[in-house]
Amino acid sequence: MSFRAGFVSIIGKPNVGKSTLMNALLGEKISIITPKAQTTRHRILGIYNKPEFQIVFSDTPGIIEPKYKLQGSMMKFVNESLQDADLIMFVTDLNTQNEEPELIERLKVIQSPLICIINKIDESDNDGIMKKIQFWREQVPSFKEIVPISASNKFNIDMLLKSVLTYLPEGPPFYDTDQVTDKSERFIASEILREKILLRYKEEIPYSVQVEIESFKDEEKLLRISAIIYVMRDSQKQIMIGKGGIAIKNMGIAARRDLEKFFGKQVFLQTFVKVKEGWRDNNNLLKEWGYDNDGK
Ligand code: GDP
Ligand code: MG
Repeated sequence: MSFRAGFVSIIGKPNVGKSTLMNALLGEKISIITPKAQTTRHRILGIYNKPEFQIVFSDTPGIIEPKYKLQGSMMKFVNESLQDADLIMFVTDLNTQNEEPELIERLKVIQSPLICIINKIDESDNDGIMKKIQFWREQVPSFKEIVPISASNKFNIDMLLKSVLTYLPEGPPFYDTDQVTDKSERFIASEILREKILLRYKEEIPYSVQVEIESFKDEEKLLRISAIIYVMRDSQKQIMIGKGGIAIKNMGIAARRDLEKFFGKQVFLQTFVKVKEGWRDNNNLLKEWGYDNDGK
């Protein structure tokens, strides 16, 4: 077989397991995974290199309606990734009830080859799985395939990969074959920190936080990372820091553990919490932090 290379977009509603699936396919932790909805804001490319192929995955934010500016820019990522795809993987799960008619209409008009992935089958029996397959086959006849998987248990992932490869055109790789992701190390560091914040803080905090890596110094024996955590209100700053600084300290310990695992090096992590009112609706700040992807 000659070399194949192409782009695969992963779409689906928040929390169905898109990031988990991409990480299972790549065998490496790149995209962030948390039980909270809307954690993936960026269009993240994960690049899977093997001697026979290169698959460029984009892990898109969920299909959601724009509510404020940040979400509007998230929708742009979704649309962009649909245009350049050789294959679109629509991910859904067994828990999802009452699929919105709008979502199904959107799927029906997609031009690129589209497959349906039913995730979390570890949570159901054969009968439940068969019913879901039947449902999707009737709703969206343009699905080329319907593949039941469990992303977190790595069930049926190899089968899925084999099938994905058949949709990719023959041709040379698009990126260096030693490149794992197009995002910088700083970006990965900020995503790891954001993941820890989303997991550890409740209610409005996760959606009010922005992480900026102020400095990232790769020294001989140590990775020195300094991060600023922006929140929107002084009260949120108090919560972030916690009594006697305990909350931020524990968050930092958890983040450092993951950073060391990812970068394979000892990490010295410093965090600062700052208040920046209304960052979510501020276009300039969003641009500065890379959420507005115009002309790139
Ligand atoms: P995304 O928002 O679509 O990217 O979803 P995530 O990948 O962040 O996963 C959302 C939640 O579903 C997390 O708590 C995952 O651990 C969980 N999850 C993902 N795949 C599976 C699976 O195959 N089985 C079960 N039971 N849970 C899963
Ligand atoms: Mg995700």
